[in-house]
Amino acid sequence: MKLGKPERMIINGRRLDGRGLYELRPIKMKVGVLKNADGSSYLEWGGNKILCAVHGPRELHPKHLARPDKAILRCIYSMATFSVKERKKPGPDRRSIELSKVIREALENVVFLHLFPQTVIDVYIKVLQSDGGTRCASIVAASLALADAGIPMKDLVAACAAGKVDGQIVLDLFEIEDNYGEADLPVAIVPKTGEIVLLQMDGNMTREEFEKALELAISGALKVYELQKKALYEKYGASYETKR
Ligand code: ADP
Repeated sequence: MKLGKPERMIINGRRLDGRGLYELRPIKMKVGVLKNADGSSYLEWGGNKILCAVHGPRELHPKHLARPDKAILRCIYSMATFSVKERKKPGPDRRSIELSKVIREALENVVFLHLFPQTVIDVYIKVLQSDGGTRCASIVAASLALADAGIPMKDLVAACAAGKVDGQIVLDLFEIEDNYGEADLPVAIVPKTGEIVLLQMDGNMTREEFEKALELAISGALKVYELQKKALYEKYGASYETKR
């Protein structure tokens, strides 16, 4: 059930959830949360709750899908039936197929796939609770789980959206803003190289608004990147310190 469109979504510079225009929602992340996966992560980003598991590199079946020169990366994004207010029909739909594809394409930019020919790396992303911006949150969780699996990467992928709500450019839209705002611009970056590996836009903005929103989304992603590094440090920091 979609809630009705609120009359206003920004009142005196505050958003419906109390945030300022350029403020991120509260974010918590943890790696190594599932013992049966090679790597895993759990992320809470505002009202989003996302669990991610990575398996591999491992042998690929059926074998004819394997590549002689590199590993293939498979991503499956799925929403739990209880992740939204009305029961979400189980199984893949157009949206989850699209999200799985764009998440995979973003991650393919950082994983050193050529080190593992003939194999597959599987990334399973389960949205347990959804509140807008799950594609960015999924990319963030997935790159943490890949790192937790020890898979060599040139960097983590960090992500965040910006958009336009009530005529104003805002950072990190939550579900109501996503549904009723004028535009949403999810962005994923590779902080070390400055590459943009996901850029989608829903709605309309002028060129100036777009440029401002892009800059804002990148600044949000860089803050998320710091939290990702902190989450890895919390699990691996001590062993890193003692090895030095
Ligand atoms: P993103 O989650 O990346 O923002 P969308 O813009 O497609 O992707 O979706 C925005 C939000 O709409 C989701 O985060 C979720 O909270 C909500 N939503 C998506 N699909 C459904 C669904 N089938 N039922 C209810 N809400 C949904």
